[in-house]
Amino acid sequence: MISFFPEFSPDQQLFSQVARDLANRFIRPSAVEDDHNELFRRNIFNTLKQEGLTSLLIPKKWGGKELGSSVHYTVLSELSRASASYSITVGVHQMIQGAVLEYGNEEQKKKYLPGLVSGELLAAFSLSEPGCGSDAGSLVTSAKQVSGGYDLNGTKTWCSNGSDADLFLVMARTGGPGPKGISAFLVSRDTPGLTIGKREKKLGLKSSSLTELIFEQCHIPKSCLLGAEGLGFSVALSQLDAGRIGIASTAIGLAQETLEVVWTEGAKKTFDFSEGQRADWANHFAGLQSIIALLFLAATRKDQGLKVTSLASQCKLLASDLAMNMTSSAISTMGFIGLNPHLGIERMMRDAKALQIVEGTNQIQKLVLSRELDKMVQQ
Ligand SMILES: Cc1cc2nc3c(=O)[nH]c(=O)nc-3n(C[C@H](O)[C@H](O)[C@H](O)COP(=O)(O)OP(=O)(O)OC[C@H]3O[C@@H](n4cnc5c(N)ncnc54)[C@H](O)[C@@H]3O)c2cc1C
Repeated sequence: MISFFPEFSPDQQLFSQVARDLANRFIRPSAVEDDHNELFRRNIFNTLKQEGLTSLLIPKKWGGKELGSSVHYTVLSELSRASASYSITVGVHQMIQGAVLEYGNEEQKKKYLPGLVSGELLAAFSLSEPGCGSDAGSLVTSAKQVSGGYDLNGTKTWCSNGSDADLFLVMARTGGPGPKGISAFLVSRDTPGLTIGKREKKLGLKSSSLTELIFEQCHIPKSCLLGAEGLGFSVALSQLDAGRIGIASTAIGLAQETLEVVWTEGAKKTFDFSEGQRADWANHFAGLQSIIALLFLAATRKDQGLKVTSLASQCKLLASDLAMNMTSSAISTMGFIGLNPHLGIERMMRDAKALQIVEGTNQIQKLVLSRELDKMVQQ
Protein backbone atom coordinates (compact mmCIF):
# COMPACT_ATOMS: atom_id res chain seq x y z
CA MET A 1 0.00 0.00 0.00
CA ILE A 2 1.48 3.35 -1.04
CA SER A 3 1.43 5.87 1.82
CA PHE A 4 0.45 9.06 0.04
CA PHE A 5 0.59 11.47 2.93
CA PRO A 6 2.25 9.98 6.00
CA GLU A 7 2.00 13.22 8.03
CA PHE A 8 -1.65 12.59 8.92
CA SER A 9 -2.99 13.79 12.27
CA PRO A 10 -4.25 11.04 14.63
CA ASP A 11 -7.88 11.86 13.67
CA GLN A 12 -7.04 11.67 9.96
CA GLN A 13 -5.30 8.35 10.49
CA LEU A 14 -8.20 6.95 12.49
CA PHE A 15 -11.01 8.07 10.17
CA SER A 16 -9.16 7.35 6.93
CA GLN A 17 -8.65 3.79 8.20
CA VAL A 18 -12.33 3.49 9.16
CA ALA A 19 -13.36 4.85 5.74
CA ARG A 20 -10.97 2.52 3.92
CA ASP A 21 -12.22 -0.54 5.83
CA LEU A 22 -15.88 0.30 5.25
CA ALA A 23 -15.27 1.14 1.59
CA ASN A 24 -13.41 -2.14 1.06
CA ARG A 25 -16.10 -4.16 2.82
CA PHE A 26 -19.27 -2.52 1.55
CA ILE A 27 -18.57 -0.37 -1.54
CA ARG A 28 -15.74 -2.00 -3.48
CA PRO A 29 -17.23 -5.51 -3.84
CA SER A 30 -20.22 -4.26 -5.89
CA ALA A 31 -18.67 -1.07 -7.39
CA VAL A 32 -18.37 -2.48 -10.92
CA GLU A 33 -21.86 -3.97 -10.91
CA ASP A 34 -23.44 -0.88 -9.31
CA ASP A 35 -21.75 1.37 -11.88
CA HIS A 36 -23.14 -0.84 -14.64
CA ASN A 37 -26.65 -0.85 -13.11
CA GLU A 38 -26.48 2.83 -12.04
CA LEU A 39 -27.38 1.73 -8.53
CA PHE A 40 -27.02 3.77 -5.33
CA ARG A 41 -27.34 1.72 -2.14
CA ARG A 42 -28.89 3.70 0.71
CA ASN A 43 -27.79 1.00 3.18
CA ILE A 44 -24.16 1.87 2.35
CA PHE A 45 -24.83 5.53 3.18
CA ASN A 46 -26.45 4.35 6.44
CA THR A 47 -23.35 2.31 7.29
CA LEU A 48 -21.08 5.32 6.66
CA LYS A 49 -23.35 7.48 8.80
CA GLN A 50 -23.31 4.95 11.68
CA GLU A 51 -19.55 5.45 11.90
CA GLY A 52 -20.02 9.23 11.84
CA LEU A 53 -18.38 9.64 8.41
CA THR A 54 -21.22 11.71 6.96
CA SER A 55 -21.15 14.40 9.69
CA LEU A 56 -17.49 14.74 10.65
CA LEU A 57 -17.58 18.56 10.60
CA ILE A 58 -20.81 19.04 12.55
CA PRO A 59 -20.52 20.19 16.19
CA LYS A 60 -21.01 17.58 18.89
CA LYS A 61 -23.99 19.62 20.13
CA TRP A 62 -25.85 18.43 17.03
CA GLY A 63 -24.54 14.86 17.15
CA GLY A 64 -21.55 15.31 14.79
CA LYS A 65 -17.87 14.55 15.37
CA GLU A 66 -16.72 18.22 15.34
CA LEU A 67 -13.46 17.45 13.52
CA GLY A 68 -11.34 19.50 11.15
CA SER A 69 -11.93 19.72 7.39
CA SER A 70 -8.77 17.72 6.64
CA VAL A 71 -10.40 14.67 8.22
CA HIS A 72 -13.57 15.09 6.14
CA TYR A 73 -11.61 15.54 2.91
CA THR A 74 -9.35 12.56 3.66
CA VAL A 75 -12.45 10.42 4.15
CA LEU A 76 -13.88 11.60 0.80
CA SER A 77 -10.63 10.52 -0.91
CA GLU A 78 -10.75 7.11 0.76
CA LEU A 79 -14.37 6.51 -0.28
CA SER A 80 -13.54 7.62 -3.81
CA ARG A 81 -10.83 4.98 -4.10
CA ALA A 82 -13.63 2.39 -3.97
CA SER A 83 -16.32 4.45 -5.76
CA ALA A 84 -16.30 8.18 -6.49
CA SER A 85 -20.12 8.13 -6.49
CA TYR A 86 -20.30 7.56 -2.72
CA SER A 87 -17.70 10.24 -2.14
CA ILE A 88 -19.95 12.66 -4.08
CA THR A 89 -23.02 11.58 -2.08
CA VAL A 90 -21.30 12.27 1.24
CA GLY A 91 -19.75 15.52 -0.05
CA VAL A 92 -23.11 16.89 -1.22
CA HIS A 93 -24.81 15.82 2.02
CA GLN A 94 -22.14 17.74 3.96
CA MET A 95 -22.76 20.88 1.85
CA ILE A 96 -26.38 21.05 3.00
CA GLN A 97 -25.41 20.41 6.63
CA GLY A 98 -22.86 23.22 6.28
CA ALA A 99 -25.49 25.58 4.86
CA VAL A 100 -27.94 24.88 7.70
CA LEU A 101 -25.19 25.36 10.25
CA GLU A 102 -23.98 28.62 8.71
CA TYR A 103 -27.26 30.23 7.67
CA GLY A 104 -29.98 28.45 9.65
CA ASN A 105 -31.73 29.98 12.63
CA GLU A 106 -31.97 28.00 15.88
CA GLU A 107 -35.38 26.59 14.95
CA GLN A 108 -34.09 25.34 11.56
CA LYS A 109 -31.00 23.82 13.14
CA LYS A 110 -33.18 21.96 15.65
CA LYS A 111 -35.53 20.84 12.90
CA TYR A 112 -33.00 19.60 10.35
CA LEU A 113 -29.57 18.91 11.85
CA PRO A 114 -30.47 15.90 14.03
CA GLY A 115 -32.01 14.07 11.04
CA LEU A 116 -29.16 15.06 8.71
CA VAL A 117 -26.57 13.87 11.22
CA SER A 118 -28.39 10.63 12.08
CA GLY A 119 -28.72 9.93 8.35
CA GLU A 120 -32.51 9.71 8.57
CA LEU A 121 -32.44 12.60 6.08
CA LEU A 122 -30.25 12.44 2.96
CA ALA A 123 -29.75 15.89 1.45
CA ALA A 124 -29.29 17.34 -2.06
CA PHE A 125 -28.22 20.69 -3.51
CA SER A 126 -30.31 22.19 -6.30
CA LEU A 127 -28.91 25.25 -8.09
CA SER A 128 -28.65 24.29 -11.78
CA GLU A 129 -31.45 24.65 -14.29
CA PRO A 130 -31.75 23.73 -17.95
CA GLY A 131 -29.83 26.53 -19.70
CA CYS A 132 -28.40 27.90 -16.39
CA GLY A 133 -25.45 25.71 -15.41
CA SER A 134 -22.34 27.89 -15.40
CA ASP A 135 -24.50 31.01 -15.40
CA ALA A 136 -26.49 29.94 -12.32
CA GLY A 137 -27.07 33.59 -11.32
CA SER A 138 -29.65 33.83 -14.09
CA LEU A 139 -31.83 30.97 -12.83
CA VAL A 140 -35.58 31.38 -13.38
CA THR A 141 -37.35 29.02 -10.95
CA SER A 142 -39.55 31.39 -8.98
CA ALA A 143 -40.48 31.59 -5.31
CA LYS A 144 -43.45 33.94 -5.08
CA GLN A 145 -44.34 35.25 -1.65
CA VAL A 146 -47.95 34.34 -0.82
CA SER A 147 -49.96 34.17 2.38
CA GLY A 148 -48.03 32.01 4.89
CA GLY A 149 -45.01 31.34 2.71
CA TYR A 150 -43.89 30.91 -0.89
CA ASP A 151 -45.08 29.13 -4.04
CA LEU A 152 -42.26 27.54 -6.04
CA ASN A 153 -42.61 27.09 -9.80
CA GLY A 154 -40.01 25.90 -12.29
CA THR A 155 -37.68 23.05 -13.21
CA LYS A 156 -34.30 22.37 -11.67
CA THR A 157 -31.87 19.90 -13.17
CA TRP A 158 -28.78 17.75 -12.45
CA CYS A 159 -29.52 17.34 -8.76
CA SER A 160 -27.04 14.84 -7.26
CA ASN A 161 -28.66 12.44 -4.74
CA GLY A 162 -32.00 13.55 -6.27
CA SER A 163 -33.49 10.03 -6.54
CA ASP A 164 -33.01 9.30 -2.84
CA ALA A 165 -32.79 12.65 -1.06
CA ASP A 166 -35.29 13.57 1.64
CA LEU A 167 -34.33 17.24 1.86
CA PHE A 168 -33.37 19.67 -0.94
CA LEU A 169 -31.56 22.97 -0.66
CA VAL A 170 -33.21 24.83 -3.53
CA MET A 171 -32.15 28.19 -4.94
CA ALA A 172 -35.08 30.13 -6.46
CA ARG A 173 -35.83 33.68 -7.54
CA THR A 174 -37.71 35.91 -5.08
CA GLY A 175 -36.57 39.24 -6.50
CA GLY A 176 -35.26 40.91 -9.63
CA PRO A 177 -32.72 39.59 -12.15
CA GLY A 178 -29.22 38.47 -11.22
CA PRO A 179 -27.72 36.79 -8.16
CA LYS A 180 -29.19 39.33 -5.67
CA GLY A 181 -32.72 38.22 -6.56
CA ILE A 182 -32.09 34.62 -5.47
CA SER A 183 -33.08 33.04 -2.13
CA ALA A 184 -32.39 29.60 -0.64
CA PHE A 185 -35.06 27.23 0.65
CA LEU A 186 -35.08 23.91 2.47
CA VAL A 187 -37.73 21.77 0.78
CA SER A 188 -38.84 18.32 1.96
CA ARG A 189 -39.24 15.62 -0.66
CA ASP A 190 -42.87 14.98 0.32
CA THR A 191 -44.00 18.59 -0.23
CA PRO A 192 -47.08 18.64 -2.51
CA GLY A 193 -46.20 20.22 -5.86
CA LEU A 194 -42.66 18.81 -5.94
CA THR A 195 -42.08 16.00 -8.42
CA ILE A 196 -38.76 14.20 -8.72
CA GLY A 197 -38.28 14.14 -12.48
CA LYS A 198 -36.30 11.90 -14.77
CA ARG A 199 -32.96 10.45 -13.75
CA GLU A 200 -30.24 11.57 -16.17
CA LYS A 201 -28.05 9.05 -17.98
CA LYS A 202 -24.40 10.01 -17.75
CA LEU A 203 -20.89 8.89 -18.61
CA GLY A 204 -19.51 8.69 -15.07
CA LEU A 205 -20.44 8.77 -11.38
CA LYS A 206 -23.20 6.39 -12.33
CA SER A 207 -23.99 5.16 -8.81
CA SER A 208 -24.80 8.73 -7.83
CA SER A 209 -28.21 9.76 -9.14
CA LEU A 210 -28.77 13.00 -11.04
CA THR A 211 -32.39 14.11 -11.39
CA GLU A 212 -34.71 16.90 -12.34
CA LEU A 213 -36.88 18.57 -9.70
CA ILE A 214 -40.17 19.94 -10.97
CA PHE A 215 -42.01 22.53 -8.89
CA GLU A 216 -45.67 23.25 -9.74
CA GLN A 217 -47.45 25.57 -7.30
CA CYS A 218 -45.31 23.95 -4.62
CA HIS A 219 -46.29 25.76 -1.43
CA ILE A 220 -43.72 25.95 1.35
CA PRO A 221 -44.02 27.78 4.68
CA LYS A 222 -41.92 30.90 5.35
CA SER A 223 -39.86 28.85 7.84
CA CYS A 224 -38.25 27.06 4.84
CA LEU A 225 -36.35 30.22 3.85
CA LEU A 226 -32.67 29.72 4.76
CA GLY A 227 -31.03 33.04 5.61
CA ALA A 228 -32.65 36.25 4.42
CA GLU A 229 -34.38 36.85 1.08
CA GLY A 230 -31.79 37.68 -1.59
CA LEU A 231 -29.01 35.76 0.18
CA GLY A 232 -29.54 32.52 -1.76
CA PHE A 233 -26.63 32.94 -4.14
CA SER A 234 -24.29 33.66 -1.23
CA VAL A 235 -25.59 30.53 0.54
CA ALA A 236 -24.84 28.50 -2.60
CA LEU A 237 -21.41 30.04 -3.17
CA SER A 238 -20.36 29.59 0.47
CA GLN A 239 -20.99 25.87 0.18
CA LEU A 240 -19.48 25.67 -3.31
CA ASP A 241 -16.07 26.70 -1.94
CA ALA A 242 -16.18 23.79 0.51
CA GLY A 243 -17.76 21.56 -2.13
CA ARG A 244 -15.01 22.25 -4.66
CA ILE A 245 -12.38 21.14 -2.15
CA GLY A 246 -14.58 18.05 -1.72
CA ILE A 247 -14.56 17.42 -5.49
CA ALA A 248 -10.77 17.79 -5.42
CA SER A 249 -10.63 15.18 -2.64
CA THR A 250 -12.76 12.81 -4.70
CA ALA A 251 -10.43 13.35 -7.67
CA ILE A 252 -7.38 12.75 -5.47
CA GLY A 253 -8.89 9.41 -4.39
CA LEU A 254 -9.21 8.42 -8.07
CA ALA A 255 -5.62 9.46 -8.76
CA GLN A 256 -4.29 7.59 -5.71
CA GLU A 257 -6.15 4.42 -6.64
CA THR A 258 -5.00 4.64 -10.26
CA LEU A 259 -1.35 5.07 -9.29
CA GLU A 260 -1.55 2.15 -6.89
CA VAL A 261 -3.18 -0.13 -9.46
CA VAL A 262 -0.61 0.75 -12.14
CA TRP A 263 2.36 0.32 -9.82
CA THR A 264 1.07 -2.94 -8.30
CA GLU A 265 0.21 -4.48 -11.68
CA GLY A 266 3.57 -3.25 -13.02
CA ALA A 267 5.40 -4.95 -10.15
CA LYS A 268 3.47 -8.17 -10.89
CA LYS A 269 4.54 -7.82 -14.54
CA THR A 270 0.91 -8.00 -15.68
CA PHE A 271 2.05 -5.66 -18.45
CA ASP A 272 5.40 -4.53 -19.77
CA PHE A 273 6.31 -1.57 -17.52
CA SER A 274 9.15 0.22 -19.31
CA GLU A 275 11.67 2.48 -17.57
CA GLY A 276 10.24 5.46 -19.47
CA GLN A 277 6.75 4.67 -18.22
CA ARG A 278 8.02 4.24 -14.64
CA ALA A 279 9.56 7.72 -14.90
CA ASP A 280 6.24 9.13 -16.17
CA TRP A 281 4.41 7.61 -13.20
CA ALA A 282 7.01 8.92 -10.77
CA ASN A 283 6.16 12.31 -12.22
CA HIS A 284 2.43 11.71 -11.63
CA PHE A 285 3.27 10.72 -8.03
CA ALA A 286 5.06 14.05 -7.47
CA GLY A 287 2.15 16.00 -9.01
CA LEU A 288 -0.34 14.13 -6.86
CA GLN A 289 1.55 14.72 -3.63
CA SER A 290 1.81 18.45 -4.34
CA ILE A 291 -1.96 18.71 -4.94
CA ILE A 292 -2.64 16.83 -1.69
CA ALA A 293 -0.46 19.37 0.13
CA LEU A 294 -2.40 22.23 -1.54
CA LEU A 295 -5.68 20.64 -0.50
CA PHE A 296 -4.64 20.39 3.14
CA LEU A 297 -3.57 24.04 3.01
CA ALA A 298 -7.07 24.92 1.74
CA ALA A 299 -8.66 22.80 4.49
CA THR A 300 -6.56 24.50 7.20
CA ARG A 301 -7.37 28.00 5.92
CA LYS A 302 -11.06 27.09 5.76
CA ASP A 303 -11.01 25.92 9.39
CA GLN A 304 -9.34 29.21 10.32
CA GLY A 305 -12.39 30.98 8.90
CA LEU A 306 -10.43 32.47 5.97
CA LYS A 307 -11.89 32.87 2.49
CA VAL A 308 -10.81 29.94 0.32
CA THR A 309 -12.49 30.72 -3.02
CA SER A 310 -9.20 30.89 -4.90
CA LEU A 311 -7.62 27.87 -3.20
CA ALA A 312 -10.80 25.82 -3.67
CA SER A 313 -10.81 26.59 -7.41
CA GLN A 314 -7.10 25.75 -7.67
CA CYS A 315 -7.65 22.41 -5.90
CA LYS A 316 -10.71 21.49 -7.99
CA LEU A 317 -9.04 22.43 -11.28
CA LEU A 318 -5.69 20.74 -10.62
CA ALA A 319 -7.02 17.59 -8.92
CA SER A 320 -9.73 16.78 -11.47
CA ASP A 321 -7.37 17.46 -14.41
CA LEU A 322 -4.74 15.25 -12.76
CA ALA A 323 -7.26 12.44 -12.18
CA MET A 324 -8.35 12.68 -15.83
CA ASN A 325 -4.78 12.69 -17.05
CA MET A 326 -3.67 9.80 -14.81
CA THR A 327 -6.63 7.51 -15.53
CA SER A 328 -6.25 8.11 -19.26
CA SER A 329 -2.49 7.51 -19.20
CA ALA A 330 -3.02 4.38 -17.05
CA ILE A 331 -4.99 2.86 -19.91
CA SER A 332 -2.27 3.88 -22.39
CA THR A 333 0.41 2.43 -20.08
CA MET A 334 -1.35 -0.89 -19.46
CA GLY A 335 -2.78 -1.46 -22.90
CA PHE A 336 -5.80 -3.69 -23.27
CA ILE A 337 -5.91 -4.83 -19.65
CA GLY A 338 -6.37 -1.21 -18.60
CA LEU A 339 -9.78 -1.39 -20.25
CA ASN A 340 -10.95 -4.30 -18.10
CA PRO A 341 -13.85 -2.97 -15.95
CA HIS A 342 -12.77 -5.16 -13.02
CA LEU A 343 -9.54 -3.20 -12.68
CA GLY A 344 -11.62 -0.05 -12.16
CA ILE A 345 -9.49 2.27 -14.32
CA GLU A 346 -12.01 2.78 -17.11
CA ARG A 347 -14.74 3.59 -14.53
CA MET A 348 -12.42 6.02 -12.77
CA MET A 349 -11.61 7.69 -16.09
CA ARG A 350 -15.32 8.24 -16.74
CA ASP A 351 -15.76 9.52 -13.17
CA ALA A 352 -12.80 11.90 -13.55
CA LYS A 353 -14.38 13.43 -16.68
CA ALA A 354 -17.57 14.17 -14.72
CA LEU A 355 -15.48 15.73 -11.94
CA GLN A 356 -14.09 18.25 -14.43
CA ILE A 357 -17.67 19.51 -14.91
CA VAL A 358 -19.50 19.21 -11.57
CA GLU A 359 -19.59 22.23 -9.20
CA GLY A 360 -18.37 24.59 -11.89
CA THR A 361 -16.53 23.40 -14.98
CA ASN A 362 -12.76 23.68 -14.98
CA GLN A 363 -13.05 26.55 -17.49
CA ILE A 364 -15.15 28.37 -14.87
CA GLN A 365 -12.46 27.67 -12.24
CA LYS A 366 -9.96 29.34 -14.59
CA LEU A 367 -12.32 32.31 -14.85
CA VAL A 368 -12.54 32.51 -11.03
CA LEU A 369 -8.76 32.37 -10.76
CA SER A 370 -8.15 34.98 -13.45
CA ARG A 371 -10.54 37.35 -11.60
CA GLU A 372 -8.65 36.66 -8.36
CA LEU A 373 -5.42 37.58 -10.15
CA ASP A 374 -7.01 40.84 -11.37
CA LYS A 375 -7.92 41.69 -7.77
CA MET A 376 -4.39 40.91 -6.58
CA VAL A 377 -2.87 43.24 -9.19
CA GLN A 378 -5.27 46.04 -8.24
CA GLN A 379 -4.42 45.77 -4.50
C1 LIG B 1 -21.91 14.63 -12.13
C2 LIG B 1 -22.58 15.95 -11.98
C3 LIG B 1 -23.25 16.25 -10.80
C4 LIG B 1 -23.89 17.49 -10.65
N1 LIG B 1 -24.57 17.75 -9.48
C5 LIG B 1 -25.21 18.93 -9.34
C6 LIG B 1 -25.98 19.20 -8.15
O1 LIG B 1 -26.02 18.39 -7.22
N2 LIG B 1 -26.65 20.36 -8.08
C7 LIG B 1 -26.62 21.29 -9.06
O2 LIG B 1 -27.25 22.33 -8.92
N3 LIG B 1 -25.92 21.07 -10.21
C8 LIG B 1 -25.21 19.92 -10.37
N4 LIG B 1 -24.51 19.66 -11.53
C9 LIG B 1 -24.54 20.63 -12.62
C10 LIG B 1 -23.21 21.35 -12.82
O3 LIG B 1 -23.01 22.29 -11.79
C11 LIG B 1 -23.23 21.97 -14.21
O4 LIG B 1 -23.19 20.90 -15.14
C12 LIG B 1 -22.06 22.88 -14.46
O5 LIG B 1 -22.18 24.03 -13.66
C13 LIG B 1 -21.91 23.27 -15.92
O6 LIG B 1 -23.11 23.72 -16.44
P1 LIG B 1 -23.64 23.19 -17.86
O7 LIG B 1 -23.55 21.71 -17.81
O8 LIG B 1 -24.94 23.82 -18.12
O9 LIG B 1 -22.57 23.69 -18.89
P2 LIG B 1 -22.57 25.12 -19.60
O10 LIG B 1 -22.71 26.20 -18.59
O11 LIG B 1 -23.56 25.09 -20.71
O12 LIG B 1 -21.11 25.18 -20.19
C14 LIG B 1 -20.75 24.52 -21.41
C15 LIG B 1 -19.29 24.85 -21.71
O13 LIG B 1 -19.12 26.28 -21.83
C16 LIG B 1 -18.15 26.74 -20.90
N5 LIG B 1 -18.53 28.03 -20.37
C17 LIG B 1 -19.76 28.41 -19.92
N6 LIG B 1 -19.73 29.70 -19.51
C18 LIG B 1 -18.46 30.12 -19.67
C19 LIG B 1 -17.78 31.34 -19.41
N7 LIG B 1 -18.41 32.40 -18.90
N8 LIG B 1 -16.45 31.41 -19.70
C20 LIG B 1 -15.78 30.36 -20.21
N9 LIG B 1 -16.37 29.16 -20.49
C21 LIG B 1 -17.68 29.05 -20.22
C22 LIG B 1 -18.14 25.68 -19.79
O14 LIG B 1 -16.91 25.68 -19.12
C23 LIG B 1 -18.36 24.42 -20.59
O15 LIG B 1 -17.15 24.01 -21.15
C24 LIG B 1 -23.85 18.44 -11.71
C25 LIG B 1 -23.16 18.13 -12.88
C26 LIG B 1 -22.51 16.92 -13.02
C27 LIG B 1 -21.77 16.62 -14.30
